Amino acid sequence: MILLVCAMSWPLMSWGASDANANDTGMNGANVSNNSDSATITDIKQQLATLNLPQQRIDFLLQQLRQSAQWPIEQQGQLLHLLAIEQEVNSDLVAAIDSYTQAIKLLTPHPLSQELVKSYLERSFILYLQTNDTQVYCPDREVAITLARQLGNVDILAEVLAQSAYCYNKPSDFGEGLKRLNEALALAQQHQLGLSRQAMIFNATAAIYRDNGLNRKAYEYFNKAYGFWEQAQDKQDMFNMLHNMVGESIKLAMWVENKAHLAQMQQLVEQSPEFADFDFFYQFNTGISCWAQGLFQEGIDHFLRALAVQDTTQEKYFVDATHAWLALSYFRQQQPNKAFKYAEIFSGSATYDGHSNELKLMIAAIIDYANGSSNLGMNKLLDTIDLQKKNFANIINNDVVNSSLDHNLTVAEFNNRLLEKQLAINKLNLEAEIDSQKITNLSMAIAVLIALVLLVVVIFLWQSRRQFKRRSQTDYLTGIANRRHTFEQGKKRFYQAKKHNRSLAVIMFDIDNFKAINDHYGHDIGDLAIKACGRRARNWLKKNDILGRIGGEEFLIILPDTEQAQAVEIAERLRTSIESNQFVFNDVKMNFTISVSVAMLTPQTHELVDIIKQADLGLYQAKDNGRNQVVVVDH
Ligand code: GH3
Ligand code: MG
Ligand code: MG
Repeated sequence: MILLVCAMSWPLMSWGASDANANDTGMNGANVSNNSDSATITDIKQQLATLNLPQQRIDFLLQQLRQSAQWPIEQQGQLLHLLAIEQEVNSDLVAAIDSYTQAIKLLTPHPLSQELVKSYLERSFILYLQTNDTQVYCPDREVAITLARQLGNVDILAEVLAQSAYCYNKPSDFGEGLKRLNEALALAQQHQLGLSRQAMIFNATAAIYRDNGLNRKAYEYFNKAYGFWEQAQDKQDMFNMLHNMVGESIKLAMWVENKAHLAQMQQLVEQSPEFADFDFFYQFNTGISCWAQGLFQEGIDHFLRALAVQDTTQEKYFVDATHAWLALSYFRQQQPNKAFKYAEIFSGSATYDGHSNELKLMIAAIIDYANGSSNLGMNKLLDTIDLQKKNFANIINNDVVNSSLDHNLTVAEFNNRLLEKQLAINKLNLEAEIDSQKITNLSMAIAVLIALVLLVVVIFLWQSRRQFKRRSQTDYLTGIANRRHTFEQGKKRFYQAKKHNRSLAVIMFDIDNFKAINDHYGHDIGDLAIKACGRRARNWLKKNDILGRIGGEEFLIILPDTEQAQAVEIAERLRTSIESNQFVFNDVKMNFTISVSVAMLTPQTHELVDIIKQADLGLYQAKDNGRNQVVVVDH
C-alpha cells in the first residue's frame, strides 16, 4: 500500500516515459543528459514497454545490466534506476533500495539528472515504508529538494516539495512545512500539473496538519485529496485517504463519518482484489475504531483478522502496530496473558522505535504489570498523560498557530478545548483507577467509622432513653420510685401474687405532723426529713420489694411473698427506727415519728388499689389513734 506516500509512489511508475515528455515540452528546460549514450537507454525503455509481467521486466533489466559493464557509468546508473523502479513495483523493497543506492552512487559525479533526484526520492519512500521514522527517511528528501531546485523541472520540484513537507511534522518546523506545500501548490496551479500532483500536495498538507494536532484541518485536506483521486479513479490513493480520514474522524469523535469511511473502505476491499493489502488495512482501521469506542472484543476480532492477512502488506510498521493495539485491547478485556504476549511481540519488533511514544509507553506499562511492577506501569500510564499534555501545549504554541497560513483560530481553539476535555476525562478515569485501591481502603475506613458513629449514637440514645425512663420513674427528692412507677410496679407484683396465689403485703406510712416540721424548721429541713425516711425504709427491703413516695411525706411499700406477721414486723421496725433516732439536718437536731398501716392481699381484692384503699384507711386510723403507731387493717 499505501499511506501518505503511495500518493507519491504510483505516479512515479510511469516516469520512464512521462519525464521525457516533460523535457520535450521544454518545461523549464530540464537539464537531462542528452548525449548519444541516452539512445541506448531510450531503446531499453522502448523494449521494456513491450513487456507486461513484472518479473519479465526485471529479468530483462538484469540481463541488460550484466551487459552494461562497458557502458558509460552514467548509463549504468540510469539502468539501475529503471531496475529499482521495477523492483519497487514488484514489492521487492530490499533489492529496490540496493539498486537505488547503486544508481545514486553512479549518477552523482555526472551532470544532474532527474534519475538521481528520483532515486533519492524513491529510496526515501521505501525507507519510510520500512520505518515510518523521519530520521531515517528524511535526509534523502533534503538532498532531493536541493537537487530538484537545480534541475528546474517543475513537476519533480512540486513533488519533492510536497514529499519533503512530511519531514516538517514537528510544531517547530510546521511553518517550513507549510511554506514548501504552498510553493508546491503554486507550481501545480501555475503549470497545471494535474489532479494527482494536487492531490499529493493536499495529502501532504493534511499530514502535517495532523502531525501538529490540527485534526479538523487534516480531515478537510484528506477529504480534498480523496476528491481529486476519486476523479482520477485512483483506488489505491482513495483507499489511502479513507484510511487517514478514519484516523482523523476517530480523533475528532466524528462517528458518523468514521462509520461511513469504514464502509467505503470495505467497498474498495470487495471491488479491488488486485490490491492485496486492502483487507489488512480495513481490518486494522476497524479495530482501531472499535477500540476508540470502547468495543474491545470487536476490536480484538478485527485485529486478529488483520494479523491473519499480515503477509499481504509490506508495511511492517502497521503489522507491528496491530500487535500493540491487540495487546491494549486484550488488556482492556481483562486478558493480561494475551495482552502480555502481543506487547512482547510489539516491543521486540523492528519498527518499534518509529511508533508514537504514547503507544510505546502504554505497551511498556502492560509489560510492567505482567512483571508485577504495577507502580512502574501506573507511572508509565501517567507519563502518557504528560506526553499528551506536552503535545497539546505544542499545538497551541503560537508558532504553530501563527505559521498556519489560513488557519482559523476559532477552529483551533475549539479543537484544543475538545482535546483538553478529552484529556481531562482520560485523566479522571486514570486517577479513578489509581485511586480505586485507596478508595476501597477509604470506603472500608468510612464504613467502620460510620458503624462506630452509629454504635455511639445507639449507645447514646439507649443511655439517654434509659436515663429518661429512670428519671420518669424516680422521685427527684428521694431517688426512690415515684408515685406512678410505684403503682405500675406494684400492679405487676399484685397480678403475679394473685396469679400464683401467693401472699402480698402493703405498708403505707406518713410523717406525723409534718406541717409543723416545715413551719418550724423550714421546707429545706422538711425535705431532708422526707429523704431520710426514704433511706430508712430502704434498709428493710428485699430485692423484689417496692418502695415509693406517693405523696408529699407519704410512702408506700409493696412486699411480695410476705405474710402479715412479717409485714407487721417490718412496719414496726421501721416505725421504731425513726422514732428512736435523732436526726441531724444541717446542724438541726430533731426527732419525728411516722404512722404506719399494714394491709394484705385477700381473695376479695381484685385490684392493687383495693389494698391501697385499705392501707389508707389504716393510716387514718393510726393518725386518729394518736400517730406514731402501726395499724394492721383487719379484713
Ligand atoms: P398528719 O400527722 O395528720 O399527717 O399531719 P401533717 O401535718 O403531716 O398533715 P398533712 O399530711 O396533711 O400535711 C402534709 C404537708 O406536707 C403539707 C405540705 O405543705 C407538706 N409537703 C408536701 N410535700 C412536701 C415536700 O416535698 N417538702 C416539704 N418540705 N413539705 C411538703
Ligand atoms: Mg403527715
Ligand atoms: Mg400526709
